[in-house]
This record gives sequence, structure tokens and C-alpha cells, in this order.
Amino acid sequence: MKILITNDDGVESPGLWAAVDALKGTGDIYVAAPDREQSGVGTALTLHIPIRAKEVTPPVAKGAGEIKAYAIEGTPGDSCVLGLEKLVGPVDLVVSGINQGANLGEDVLISGTVGAALQGHLRGYPSIAISVASVRNTRYEVAAALLESLGRQLADGKTLPPSLLNVNLPNEPLDKIKGVQVTTLGGRSYGENIKDGSDGRRSYYWISRDKFLNPSPRETTDNKALKENFISVTPLRITLTDHDSLSQVEDLFMGVLDRK
Ligand code: MN
Repeated sequence: MKILITNDDGVESPGLWAAVDALKGTGDIYVAAPDREQSGVGTALTLHIPIRAKEVTPPVAKGAGEIKAYAIEGTPGDSCVLGLEKLVGPVDLVVSGINQGANLGEDVLISGTVGAALQGHLRGYPSIAISVASVRNTRYEVAAALLESLGRQLADGKTLPPSLLNVNLPNEPLDKIKGVQVTTLGGRSYGENIKDGSDGRRSYYWISRDKFLNPSPRETTDNKALKENFISVTPLRITLTDHDSLSQVEDLFMGVLDRK
């Protein structure tokens, strides 16, 4: 089995190497991850400047498989695309993480962790984004155990659905975690605050995502599962068409080119 591991916290993030360690018994591991932290850049790709890839030495002992690691001078999406299309080639699994900080609800749309996994999903590879819900003192051991178990199941012939699996864990030891819930995507957890400032010459705005929105805790959502100390697994897919609005939009647009 061939596995590409990527992230948005950067190639030096301990979470990435915890994922490598957890999966190295499963097959050949390849790493392609941004050379610096890139959280919150979503699905961004770098199209207007060239990107460099530098081979780096993994900080963990080499396991059963081959571990080749690249630091990419670009976004999480760039890293995954470059890995799959050039540096590594087709894989059996893409893992993005283990991220420091939750990626829940509609906020997945700006998540670099999910953005990287999306590039695997869009190419038809089973893809997992995995995050632990704390940016400080992040505990990786349960997430690593979960990846190890998944890797074992896949090696034994089980398959993943064609969806992108968004996995979030509470930042707790195993004995504090209540279990695993398969969930739906909740609402936005954070809104934007805009601060005004000046650099001495010009004024600027600074967008920060620190307005907690307290998304309504619907019964099945990922936000609710995490709040209650469950591990949340949400299968995602990219079907963005708003079917409910098709006829209304047709009514508005079908006559726009008619000359009166
Ligand atoms: Mn991150």
C-alpha cells in the first residue's frame, strides 16, 4: 500500500510525523507538506509563481516501508497535487494531518487540512483529513491509534468509501473519550472580526477568526459530537449544486438574452 501524508501545519509539525509513525507498518509512506505553517488557506493553489520541492530527512526512524519526504514551497493543496501528480504518483490513501486544531462544520471550507485532502478526493483517492481539537498541548496518541487501526483494516482488504473523511478528535486521553460518532457537518464555529490598524504609513485591516458563533448543536453534527467528547467522523463529498434553486434560477436567467 502506498500512502501520501500531507498537512497544513508544515513539514516540521509533530502531528504529521505522528501520522507517519502510525501508518509506517501499513505500507510505503511518502510525505509532501508545506515548508511552513499554512493553516486557513483552504483549497488555494499557487499558479502564478514556480514552486520548489526540497527533499528532507524524516525525524523518525525508518519503518517497514519507504519514507520519502518533501518540503513544498507552497500551499497544502500544492503539496498534495505535486505529490500525487509528480513526486509520488498514484497512491492508495491520502492522509492530511494530524492537524493542531479542530476543523468542524462549514469552517472546513477554509481549512488547509481539508483543502489538501480534497485534492486527493478530487482525484478519486481515498482521503482522510484528521485533526485534534486544540492548537496548544495537542495530544496525538489517540489520533495515531485511530490511523494505525484504519491502516491495518485497509491492509486487510477493507475499503474506504469514495468520500473525504473528516475526522476530529477531542484533545483528551483515551479514557476521557466517549467513543466515535459518524456525524454530519454542522454550522460555522467562528466568524471574522476585523481590526483597524496602521503601520505608520498606511492604515490596514486585520481579519481574525476569533468570533465564536456557537453553532446550533443539532443532534447529528460534528460540533456537537466534539463538544460531548466524542471523536467525530464526517464523510464529505463535493456536490455543490443547489438543486432546490434550479427552477428559480432558470426562471430568472432563461430570458436574459432575449431582445425586446
Ligand atoms: Mn493547521
